[in-house]
Amino acid sequence: MKFADLHLHTNFSDGTFTPEELVLYAQKAGLACIALTDHDTVEGCERAAAACAKVQMEFIPGAELTAEIEDTEVHILGYFLDTKNPLLLDKIAKFQSVRQSRIHEMCAALNKMGVPLKPEAVFALANCKSPGRPHVARALVKEKLVANLDEAFERFLKKGRPAWVPKTKMSAVEAVELIHQAGGLAVMAHPGLNRTDEIIPGLVRAGLDGIECFHTKHSTVMAERYLEIAERHHLLVTGGSDCHGFSKNKPLIGTVKLPYEHVEKLKAAKKSADEKRAAI
Ligand SMILES: [Zn+2]
Ligand SMILES: [Zn+2]
Repeated sequence: MKFADLHLHTNFSDGTFTPEELVLYAQKAGLACIALTDHDTVEGCERAAAACAKVQMEFIPGAELTAEIEDTEVHILGYFLDTKNPLLLDKIAKFQSVRQSRIHEMCAALNKMGVPLKPEAVFALANCKSPGRPHVARALVKEKLVANLDEAFERFLKKGRPAWVPKTKMSAVEAVELIHQAGGLAVMAHPGLNRTDEIIPGLVRAGLDGIECFHTKHSTVMAERYLEIAERHHLLVTGGSDCHGFSKNKPLIGTVKLPYEHVEKLKAAKKSADEKRAAI
């Protein structure tokens, strides 16, 4: 049996592994195929692809775009993206600059409360173009302003806490279109974390291709529910660990094992979408 893990992060966003380390752990986990889905960036894909090629592992270039629909934040995974697509790169650059201003705003809010965290400390630690809240939390720990990551989120960074700053996001419709025009397939990430399935029909109307049924934070019951929803809406099925590095001393990669038949279906869908585009 061959397996894939189609939801992975590196230090090109808020993961801690380099692309090469990620591929090493993928190999240890015995995976046949991985997809890199860093937040709002495709920068790590080239290195991940090269590392995969060395060990003859199949690689799918992707990204996880932050979007919103009906006032709900939704993460849209793009698979088989052309990582040189000009419009994709242009939009990504815009959203990266939004992310960077958000770090400034979060630090300003912390400073107002007497917590002296400088944005430069966050940027130095993040060392990537897609800095986010986890980097602020890690910087707070590093500067010894909180004892641990939980405290950082509980006291300051969680939604509704004083240093929480809302994100400006693209609409989910825009995200799906952006992915499609870059030759990709658009998949709703971890629907179980959204706790609202009402948004799914709207996403389907926007052209959604698939849904992430298997995810670290999905229970078996949840996975079954989303498999049913996928079938009802004729959506592709994906799954992944959402590994950001070590979690409780173990890398999460490979803990969610997507049967390879779903990768075959994704590849068939990508092929027929390409053929349709070529026919226009
Ligand atoms: Zn996500
Ligand atoms: Zn993710």
